[in-house]
Amino acid sequence: MASPVRVSFLGGLGEIGRNCAAVEVEEKIMLIDCGLMFPDADMAGVDVVLPDFTYLRDNADRVEGVVLTHGHEDHIGALAYLLKDVPLKIIGSALTIGMAKSRIEEKGVEDQATFIEVKDNQRINVGPFDLEFFPVTHSVPHGFATAFHTPQGVVLHSGDLKLDMSPVDGRLTDLAGLGHLSQSDGIRLFLCDSTNAEAAGFSASESSIGKSLNSLFLSRAGRRIVVACFASHVHRVQQVANAAIASGRKIATLGRSMKKNVALAREMGLLHIAESHLVGIEDIDKIPDGELCVISTGSQGEPLAALARMANGDSHWLNVAEGDCVILSSHPIPGNESSVSRVIDRLIHKGAEVIHSGHNNVHVTGHAKSEELRVIHSIVQPEWFIPVHGEFRHMSAHARIATQIGLPADKLLLCTDGDSVILDDKGLERTEPIPADYIYMAGSVAALDENVLTERNILGKDGFVSSIVSLTVNGGKISLLGDPEIVSRGWVKGEEGRQIHKEATEVVRSAVEEALKDGKDKEADIVRASKRSLGRFINHRTRLRPMVVSVVLGLE
Ligand SMILES: [Zn+2]
Ligand SMILES: [Zn+2]
Repeated sequence: MASPVRVSFLGGLGEIGRNCAAVEVEEKIMLIDCGLMFPDADMAGVDVVLPDFTYLRDNADRVEGVVLTHGHEDHIGALAYLLKDVPLKIIGSALTIGMAKSRIEEKGVEDQATFIEVKDNQRINVGPFDLEFFPVTHSVPHGFATAFHTPQGVVLHSGDLKLDMSPVDGRLTDLAGLGHLSQSDGIRLFLCDSTNAEAAGFSASESSIGKSLNSLFLSRAGRRIVVACFASHVHRVQQVANAAIASGRKIATLGRSMKKNVALAREMGLLHIAESHLVGIEDIDKIPDGELCVISTGSQGEPLAALARMANGDSHWLNVAEGDCVILSSHPIPGNESSVSRVIDRLIHKGAEVIHSGHNNVHVTGHAKSEELRVIHSIVQPEWFIPVHGEFRHMSAHARIATQIGLPADKLLLCTDGDSVILDDKGLERTEPIPADYIYMAGSVAALDENVLTERNILGKDGFVSSIVSLTVNGGKISLLGDPEIVSRGWVKGEEGRQIHKEATEVVRSAVEEALKDGKDKEADIVRASKRSLGRFINHRTRLRPMVVSVVLGLE
């Protein structure tokens, strides 16, 4: 009997973000990606959400390394946090490693990492892992699908991919290679990107955007143009640069990650912009409006990024004015819609023309839509299939696609974060799950949990009200020392507020007096009486539900 292979999902199944899976072969663990997730609006004060690394920390001596499928934050962004506890061999394409390295160096944990660069179609051995890398097209260059040649056959992970038949760099998804692998060794288990499984048809090619950018640039002669897109989207940056150069403009980059990625990609020969076409952001005032194009970060409406700063009028470098044209070459990630919309609104208020994917062909997706998934499945023809990378709706749509084109329903497992499966001679089966909580990072601590977030949401919504009851003990008799004090923050204001505070004071006073009269004079009794009466009063009088706290002073 060949030794079994275990696959566990630490994140990315049930949400878009924090992609991380663990493949176990002969007692060793190889991760596929180690990404983060950006917080929703209801995760007040949270900077990033990480996968739960408990299982990896508990088995740190068995962790060999991580395969990075590509350089997006939802695949590499959590590495620096894991490296603090677990040293890793980090395997990926040169660009992906370059992107990961800079994030890891920022956090000062590079000593814990050994970097292994691999090329398209290379096959390498790392510990007991026999790995082969297939080129895939996506919204960052040099992504991989990864084949794990294991004692249980080939486990194939798609990475994030689409089937772009005319990619900007000419590097196609290697369907021939995947087909060959499927026909020769066979694919025992397939894990595949589900992000766009609900979308009909084929995704448009990245190169289709070049044309629209060209005509937009030409028809805005004499005006300044700002384009915001993902800093990692090298091919998008290339097409913006081409359109700018073709319309006689110089290019300036704005935003830290844009500067960094443009420099990295130029150095690697993946981005072609001659030095003579570039201008430093500090020199843009010397360039006439019609001869300038600024490529900026902030296309997701991130409040601290360059675009939002321009929109708010507090950019150090560029303030958007009447006549400027701002192109958002992106689509909001779920959860970012309202911040993007706010930024658009402010830019328009400042007199700019804003062009976005809602009404112009200035963005295409990087993820395969349903028809592409059909093509992929018909080529890969796996024995077993687990949809990954998506919310449940995306994964279940992906499951439907797989079964529609011939996968038997009993060869499919719909998994979620924390699920763990064993592949052995008999087939694929669920096993003991692993911890997979959301780890909320704020500042430098991971001390936030669901309770803290619930409290923050209550505070954020309806504020905070506290009653302070001071008591005095005289000859064994307990009585109120003055009026209870009502202190509030973010609750009610003005004349009506003062009136409500006064009424609240009365309500708490009579509740406490009542309790004392009934002989309920323990601290806990009085806290309960004042809290309950205050809560009831607030609910009845204001229909708000602030956080209510009661403090009792003067008892031993
Ligand atoms: Zn991606
Ligand atoms: Zn992704």
